[in-house]
Amino acid sequence: MAHDAAKPEVTLPAKSTWNYQPDLPLEDRSLFNLRRGPAEGLKLLWNSWLPISDRLIVVGVSILTWFYLSPSLQTARTFGFDWVVGVYLRNLILITLVAGGMHLYLYTFKMQGDRLRYDARPFHKKNALFTFSSQFLDNVFWSIASGVTVWTAYEVLGLWAYANGYMPMLDFATHPILFVLWFIFLPFYGVLHFYWIHRLLHWRPVYNYVHSLHHRNVNVGPWSGMSMHPLEHIAYLSSVLIHVVLASHPIHFIFQLQQKVLLAVTSHAGYESVTLAEDSDTGLRVGDFFHQLHHRYFECNYGEPEVPCDKWFGTFHDGSEEATARTRVRMKEMRKK
Ligand SMILES: [Zn+2]
Ligand SMILES: [Zn+2]
Repeated sequence: MAHDAAKPEVTLPAKSTWNYQPDLPLEDRSLFNLRRGPAEGLKLLWNSWLPISDRLIVVGVSILTWFYLSPSLQTARTFGFDWVVGVYLRNLILITLVAGGMHLYLYTFKMQGDRLRYDARPFHKKNALFTFSSQFLDNVFWSIASGVTVWTAYEVLGLWAYANGYMPMLDFATHPILFVLWFIFLPFYGVLHFYWIHRLLHWRPVYNYVHSLHHRNVNVGPWSGMSMHPLEHIAYLSSVLIHVVLASHPIHFIFQLQQKVLLAVTSHAGYESVTLAEDSDTGLRVGDFFHQLHHRYFECNYGEPEVPCDKWFGTFHDGSEEATARTRVRMKEMRKK
């Protein structure tokens, strides 16, 4: 295929490096690759959403959340213990269903065995690096104690701001096209925001105090995705502040938060896909080898593939041995500073 012929010649990692790896070197999956042309870019965009994708599921969840599991804007005009606790509990249940469900399926009952699992090493059970000396308990603790709290705080403040007219509103009836476009735009904005926040988190003083908590996890599982220091949760979820200037509906606001939280959970699954049928390699794509490389080699792949900031700023790791060597040099340089 002409497409494959264009792949650069690289040294692939030894077989023992990963239990499973996608086709390497990783391709540039960005829509912003001008050489690809608009038709190919649109096809990529289409395939990233349809026929089914984790983010399409989150759109559905956020719509249901707004209609059935959120306070009315009338209620949210003033802060009240009942509705704030209600939002906290609903978020707690959501993350537990997604992260807990995936952990049970993939790691407790091992329904897929090690099929499509990037790194087959077990999680740490007795390691003083982790809170409670356990990687699992550490990850659950930080995801819930800090993650759900900060997530809920943003959501409660947002609903209160919409209810009081402090954030500009947009509804489906008057702006149906913009209403749909925001669902496509917000994840892109989220990646751009994440890249720069993440670069800042890797600045040594901030890394040592804040981000090292997330990087305790060299091998990751669903609960690792939101296992972060409270300051990182505040920074990571601050992309929703865009709604202060962007006219949107509370559904967009809820979607953006759920997308950041629940897709952090799924993208840290440690598996390329969750499959239902035995011996099938096709299923719901969840894992992100691009970010798995970040957890293994640290100073690379700060963003996500859809907006190629890493390519633009020279921090892209395509999975090859050459990229690992480049990353190690970079890491040494950074540690000297
Ligand atoms: Zn990092
Ligand atoms: Zn991570």
